[in-house]
Amino acid sequence: MSKIWPPLQHYVEIDWVGGSHTLLLTADQARRYAADPGPVVAEVLGCGLDAYLTWLEWQGRAQCVAMTGKRKRCRSTVPGVSFDQPSGLAEHGGGYCTSHGTLP
Ligand SMILES: [Zn+2]
Repeated sequence: MSKIWPPLQHYVEIDWVGGSHTLLLTADQARRYAADPGPVVAEVLGCGLDAYLTWLEWQGRAQCVAMTGKRKRCRSTVPGVSFDQPSGLAEHGGGYCTSHGTLP
């Protein structure tokens, strides 16, 4: 076996804030990915898929956790808060926008 060539890598490109992101998979993860990608992506990201999708939709910003009068989630973002990884949102996400930040 020649040492010149790097070993075969398993990877996938997933949507990311600002473009795409390469996830390197182990051989075992690649095998499981072929059958069911979701759990493997969540495993590599270190957070739930819902956190990843929310992070993507909100471009890394944190959405205000307040509910409006119509029982809908406030559509504003938390000022000064953004995450470069979806796991950051999963861990620390939350907070209030400027309109709701002064409520008790
Ligand atoms: Zn709000």
